[in-house]
Amino acid sequence: MRLHDFTFDQLKTRLIADGVKEAHTLTIWNALHRRASTDLSAHDHFLPPIQRWLAEHAPEMDLPPITALIESSDGLTRKMLLRLEDGQEIETVVMGYPGRYTACVSTQAGCAMGCVFCATGQMGFVRHLRPGEIVAQVLAGQRLLRSDGESGLRNLVLMGMGEPLHNYESVMTALEIISDVRGISLGPSKISISTVGVVPGILRLAEEQRPYNLAVSLHAASDEERSALVPANRRWPLADLIAACRTYNEKTSRRIFFEWTLIAGKNDSTDTARRVAALLAGLDAHVNLIPLNPTNGFDGQPTALPAADEFQLILQEAGFPCTIRQRRGIDVAAGCGQLRAEKRAR
Ligand code: SAH
Ligand code: SF4
Repeated sequence: MRLHDFTFDQLKTRLIADGVKEAHTLTIWNALHRRASTDLSAHDHFLPPIQRWLAEHAPEMDLPPITALIESSDGLTRKMLLRLEDGQEIETVVMGYPGRYTACVSTQAGCAMGCVFCATGQMGFVRHLRPGEIVAQVLAGQRLLRSDGESGLRNLVLMGMGEPLHNYESVMTALEIISDVRGISLGPSKISISTVGVVPGILRLAEEQRPYNLAVSLHAASDEERSALVPANRRWPLADLIAACRTYNEKTSRRIFFEWTLIAGKNDSTDTARRVAALLAGLDAHVNLIPLNPTNGFDGQPTALPAADEFQLILQEAGFPCTIRQRRGIDVAAGCGQLRAEKRAR
């Protein structure tokens, strides 16, 4: 374990075991999460025992280096590649406008779910990220913004590489650290978990009353169509997924966001839109339509705007809030897993 893997209470236990006063926990926690600093001179003003402990443990607080950084032509999306200790590279995206930036972070290196249109799915599963590797991405995003003289992050989405609910424990620990008011302090209502539809994970979120937003990547309205795009649907078919979503709505009283990647000629007809409305009937649901970001490994194109508008209108008329979100920063390969895939191909 490294220091960014610890929750506040775990850090406290560790410090006590090392003979450091419990009262110093907050200072050390701040050094780890507020300042996000690995520069030891930044610790000069601390009490000697704190300085000594931090100096001794400096190698355990290193943050992963940024190995690639690209900015979209409109300057609103920045994408970083971070290199982990074992050489794995993961993607973190910061997007938005001054004063309201969103970080999009990875939860795994690669992904086991194999969605056919997704660059991460195309590369397969490598490993789960530890909590500290998820926290480090948020800190990297904050540092990047600060170095540009901009204010911090407002929102966090777990929509980078990987399936968050396939790495449940580490993701929950990371979110506890990130939302801790003594540190990074991103409110749980500003944090969204996106899942391909891991049914046991959705039920567990509801059971444990986790206070985060939930997004479910739907993309198709029948098992046959969905299994062709999202192989995980064979394990957790639509009937089970929708039932889990209903339980989630009931137990948490929170709305679920359904993500729908619009692929031209594949899942964007008006008939499909009507089937989506029927499938979601009775759920407290918001639908986000996102035109496909083309990848090398999938022969599909994004739906053009007029058809997307029609799709949206049908869902709205059926009573569902529905928004069309342009995938930002297409020119920085900001689709999930695309930067790493491109770097490999060069
Ligand atoms: N594994 C989680 C979160 C990461 S993917 C999930 O699948 O929800 C985040 C979102 O990006 C998902 O909704 C996914 O379907 C979508 N996505 C992946 N590749 C895409 C692409 N090439 N174009 C548009 N959306 C894509
Ligand atoms: Fe994994 Fe999500 Fe990509 Fe599917 S869309 S392969 S679940 S990261």
